[in-house]
Amino acid sequence: MAEQRGDGRGAGDGRDGGRDAGQSRHRVVRPEEARAWEELVTTAIRTVSDGLVVGTSGNVSVRVGDTVLVTPSGVPYDRLQPDDVTGVGLDGRQVLGTLVPTSELPMHLAVYRTTGARAVVHTHAVHATAVSTLVSELPLIHYMAAALGGPVRVAPYATYGTDELAENMLHALADRSGCLLQNHGTVTHGASLDQAYDRTAQLEWMCRLWLTATSVPGLSPSLLSGEQLAQVQERLRGYGQRR
Ligand code: 13P
Ligand code: ZN
Repeated sequence: MAEQRGDGRGAGDGRDGGRDAGQSRHRVVRPEEARAWEELVTTAIRTVSDGLVVGTSGNVSVRVGDTVLVTPSGVPYDRLQPDDVTGVGLDGRQVLGTLVPTSELPMHLAVYRTTGARAVVHTHAVHATAVSTLVSELPLIHYMAAALGGPVRVAPYATYGTDELAENMLHALADRSGCLLQNHGTVTHGASLDQAYDRTAQLEWMCRLWLTATSVPGLSPSLLSGEQLAQVQERLRGYGQRR
């Protein structure tokens, strides 16, 4: 990936404390950041292999302390190397790497500034994006909406990469761990990359389910009530293996 840098330098080992001709090399990558980067790249590659995005669409981030590691803008995920670690502070200032961070930095940072999330996944998953063009909230077609905090809202359209889109997303995300972006895609967050990714996959699945159920001519699907969803929300607290 080093050859893609616009500055004509290789990645180096970042150990010179930030002295470099004309451009800051930022600080040294910490071991926990190197591990988190590996997981981030694996997650980003998965969004492509699972069909949730095509090419370099979408982006992924993970928070390590007060640093947010993000996928670089417009770089195929399978080209990312260990020395491509790209990180910003919560104020958006780049502190790691020389690749340009994702254009959706405003969305990722807005989530970290306002929630306790440790990871954010943004995709252009096809069923979810289709639903985002049809409704302002995904109807309660399945109880898994409870895993996202309730009925999934659609954030009104705004140009990609803008503060306006980040603001619309934040409203749609209130008390939720996922939302749709009108005519654009999905955003989910979680306590880990695995959790954020799983929420995206569940959201895409639920959108596909709704599209399937509503495509039967002459019939319309039954929907769950708010009360039924609240009961599931309570029950999901005890879901899975006891720890
Ligand atoms: P980046 O390649 O800049 O992350 O942009 C992809 C995207 O999905 C923009 O919404
Ligand atoms: Zn996008």
